[in-house]
Amino acid sequence: MLTVASWGWVLAVLLPATIPVLPATPFAAGLTLALGVVDAQGQFDPTAHPPAGGVQGSDIAPVAPSPRARSAQTLPRRNPHRSPSTGGMRLAPTARGPLWGRTIVVDPGHNGRAIAAINSRQVPDGRDGHKACNTTGTLSNSGYSEHAHNWAVAGQLTKLLRQRGASVVLTRPSDVGVGPCVDERAAIGNRARADLVLSIHADGAAASARGFHIIRSEAMAGGSRITARSTRLATLTRDSFAAATRLPRSTYLGGGTAITPRPDIAGLNLSKVPAVMLEAGNMRNATEAALLRSPAFRAKEAAGLAAAAQQFLR
Ligand code: ZN
Repeated sequence: MLTVASWGWVLAVLLPATIPVLPATPFAAGLTLALGVVDAQGQFDPTAHPPAGGVQGSDIAPVAPSPRARSAQTLPRRNPHRSPSTGGMRLAPTARGPLWGRTIVVDPGHNGRAIAAINSRQVPDGRDGHKACNTTGTLSNSGYSEHAHNWAVAGQLTKLLRQRGASVVLTRPSDVGVGPCVDERAAIGNRARADLVLSIHADGAAASARGFHIIRSEAMAGGSRITARSTRLATLTRDSFAAATRLPRSTYLGGGTAITPRPDIAGLNLSKVPAVMLEAGNMRNATEAALLRSPAFRAKEAAGLAAAAQQFLR
């Protein structure tokens, strides 16, 4: 769900080169490792990228880490889950494939934990105003949380993209703490020079409302070219998502197009790379809530998003 208060981000400060880089592992194992890195050691190893296994002799290897990136960067040692994370989490490809050499930012919208002082913190919105740092998003009527849905889809999507050769940068490292404010989520994609950003959400509309839609920014920090490319990405994402999930287009936004241009989404406005946001369905609608809660359906969501990324980068 994207309300005026729902996208916020951190002003806290790690150097731009501090995206943790994890070795090639399945998503779940990568997540476990990531939490270990953050909690126990506060360090990461940029030399883990490109992947140690599976890809030899490539002529399109990802850029080597800079000397500065090799210096140990330390994430907050005091309970890191009580303050917004920064920097994202980079995951190396697990195989060579059509997305080899590409960097894709996957943004699981919202946070696993709500802290009022952080939720209300004001950060730039990318159009001369401010917006709240972030929230935990909406809920289904039975209590299934949007942040959990977003995290689950992001995990499945990340696995698919890495299997197809992409490096993936997740904007938040877990679903138990406080992820980045919305401006930092955009900055993560910008610093990574991402080929594209997919932000995953689900909406909380009237119970009778149905369908998914794709949000795009009307004016992005990357200028008119990036805004236009994001419009194309929105169209591809809409079509791929619909084909994979068979969900109807939104009945309440977008006028039947399932694409909703917005002026107020900080995470998109501040992006200098192509970026769109999925609202995967209406969590307040019983039919869609049941789907969004289903792992099998979420796998279809992830497949649709991965296909859109491939078509966009073809
Ligand atoms: Zn949301």
